Amino acid sequence: MTVTYDPHHPMYLDEADTRVELARVFDTCHSCRRCVELCPSFPTLFGYIDRHVDLDAGRMTPFQQDHVVDQCFQCKLCYVNCPYIPGQHESAIDFPRLMLRAAAMRRSSGRVTLRDKVTSAFLGSTDAIGALAVVTVKFTNKVIGAKPGSLIRKAVEVTTGVSSVRLLPMFARERFSAWFTKRPRVRVGKRQGRVTVFPTCLVEYQEPTIGKALVKVYEHNGIECSLTTAGCCGAPYLHGGDMAKFTKIAVDNVAALAAEVRRGTDIVVPQPTCGFVLKKDYLDYVGGPDALLVSQHTYDAAEYLMKVHATEGLSLDTDFDGPVPETITYHTPCHLLAQNIGLKSRDLMKLTGARIKVVQQCSGIDGLWGLRAENAELSIPIGKKLAAMVKDANGDVVVGDCHLANTVITEQSGVTPHHPLQVVARAYGLDTE
Ligand code: SF4
Ligand code: SF4
Repeated sequence: MTVTYDPHHPMYLDEADTRVELARVFDTCHSCRRCVELCPSFPTLFGYIDRHVDLDAGRMTPFQQDHVVDQCFQCKLCYVNCPYIPGQHESAIDFPRLMLRAAAMRRSSGRVTLRDKVTSAFLGSTDAIGALAVVTVKFTNKVIGAKPGSLIRKAVEVTTGVSSVRLLPMFARERFSAWFTKRPRVRVGKRQGRVTVFPTCLVEYQEPTIGKALVKVYEHNGIECSLTTAGCCGAPYLHGGDMAKFTKIAVDNVAALAAEVRRGTDIVVPQPTCGFVLKKDYLDYVGGPDALLVSQHTYDAAEYLMKVHATEGLSLDTDFDGPVPETITYHTPCHLLAQNIGLKSRDLMKLTGARIKVVQQCSGIDGLWGLRAENAELSIPIGKKLAAMVKDANGDVVVGDCHLANTVITEQSGVTPHHPLQVVARAYGLDTE
């Protein structure tokens, strides 16, 4: 048995070795049980072990192990919760990364269906699909905006594996990068920083208004913005266990981003999953001095602003002349919690004078897991729970950092949440369209 999370380790993809390691970790989890309420994986795991009088995780069959792996949506919360993580305990348990190892092992040993491969390839081609979707936006939005469960959506599900019953984010008429490139040059006043914006696919192709709000808020505060040359972070491939494709993307992105950092910028990311990939996954799966440099200089969009606010000699403008809601219901996405940076978006929005009600509940989407047809049944009740909590909080506006989680809130409650930077832009009186 080899305790490794390194895809370059010779035993990483070995099936027998991975299955023994799964049994070791499952055994510890069964006696710990701390994560039982976090996701479906743990109750499924404990249920299989409880069937045996000796409670031996080693008795689980490969099918049962795979069932646990398939129900992990990579929210990372069990890692944040776990006292047995590498570097802190000799057990060196990193449950989410073990699930990725198991997914990669199954893929490499040919135990993945063709349908699963097609879905992973489709969900992973974010840049190609996004670019095409923006050019054909009227048609594309008609198709993906068709009534959930309709014939058109069922046809999309059959061809791509994307659930026909989930609400999907619409595409924009203009890419964020197109707006960024053609906007008039802005001279920032007292310069307080320089950042490279890593817009993420969701902002680039689907919700560029988030990126526009970010740039306007940053420039309003004397922070010069440039645009990265790096493409999609590769999260859909990583979460689908396609380590070869993910690593190729990650290596290219690390090189591009490290060069940008060396030119004197920090990197800011307005979406939590992609921010986590740049900060943590590139370090884990690519490694080396460039990945470390990228990790050390990557910030969540609100995290960077709060750093400016807290740094002596720098200051964030705290005069808000625009509209400020009295109360804000703020949803904290899992991949932001997993970054261990505290609730920086909450702190940023507090500066406007709004009262913040925090809702901490997984959306069940995590990357793109919840959009896969086979996961919809498990994912939707998680989204319903989130929507009920948002409704109970009853804020004047609903805000969340993750555009995918926000789409789940819309799907289950009819309410359209905003990104924290959009709230702050409005509070400054900036044009947010
Ligand atoms: S990463 Fe999230 S979904 Fe996966 S096992 Fe941990 S808590 Fe469950
Ligand atoms: S991942 Fe860690 S905290 Fe969670 S059940 Fe397993 S051992 Fe316990």
